[in-house]
Amino acid sequence: EKYKEGMKKTQGVFSGRINDLLARYRKVDEDFFEELEEVLIAADVGVTTVMDLVDELKMEVKRQNIKDTKEIKDVISEKLVEIYYGEDDEDIERLNIQENEMTVILVVGVNGVGKTTSIGKLAHQLKQEGKKVMMAAGDTFRAGAIEQLEEWGKRADVEVIKQSAGSDPAAVIYDGIRAAKSRKADVLLCDTAGRLQNKVNLMNELEKIKRVIEREVPGAPHEVLLVLDATTGQNALNQAKTFSGATDVSGIVLTKLDGTAKGGIVLAIRNELNIPVKYIGLGEQIGDLQEFDASLFVYGLFA
Ligand code: GDP
Repeated sequence: EKYKEGMKKTQGVFSGRINDLLARYRKVDEDFFEELEEVLIAADVGVTTVMDLVDELKMEVKRQNIKDTKEIKDVISEKLVEIYYGEDDEDIERLNIQENEMTVILVVGVNGVGKTTSIGKLAHQLKQEGKKVMMAAGDTFRAGAIEQLEEWGKRADVEVIKQSAGSDPAAVIYDGIRAAKSRKADVLLCDTAGRLQNKVNLMNELEKIKRVIEREVPGAPHEVLLVLDATTGQNALNQAKTFSGATDVSGIVLTKLDGTAKGGIVLAIRNELNIPVKYIGLGEQIGDLQEFDASLFVYGLFA
């Protein structure tokens, strides 16, 4: 299926290395753990997360008195899933969709990460689920962003509310909310510009947009989704840090997982920032967006 195909690079590279490691080491010892760390760091799991994992593993190995590497594969995957979820239930973390009122979703991220594409895919998916979806073209900054969102609007058969390029994003989103209310939309997806050069500007712009949304729809935005490009590895982690410092990010959309072997970044983001990865992008087509299931992901790595 799609998921397997899209995850081929990350899973192939990772499971190849793990299986090679397990074949070379029979005994669970310091050298084994050291090489395991290297394999995980190469998959961009992130140094902090890897250290956490290896500490947990060493304790578990002692507790269960594991000596042979044959027995350790399942323990590694169990611990990775545990580390991913931390204190939370080990369940798919779904979008916060409101039952009896309009859901407003703000989508943020820097240029090129796949923000517009992901909004289009998400619009399509929510529409397939029977929801009335609308989009607001709040990225008035990047050249072509409005037209591109309109293109996705056509593909997903979803109406796009826009103004001209260069206009105030908060004003576009205000228009979007008004239109979505009058058309009785279930979900409004709001695009934004992702200028990161200056954190204060970014913060101010996002705050202004959020104020408009909060005023028009009490309790909204119900989600602030940050879009990150998995192929950028640790850079994606840094972007997540900057954005979550500027606003309350409620979920991540991790794109381009099909194009990288660095899928381990998923685990680092969740472990280091405690932001759930809600969706993953697995291609350029409208259907190439999936809800993220950490157990499926981790067990796939060790297949
Ligand atoms: P934006 O500037 O953040 O809005 O980025 P775009 O949505 O324009 O996407 C940038 C490029 O990444 C486009 O060529 C997209 O087709 C591509 N892209 C987006 N998501 C994915 C994905 O999940 N997989 C792959 N392979 N390409 C993607």
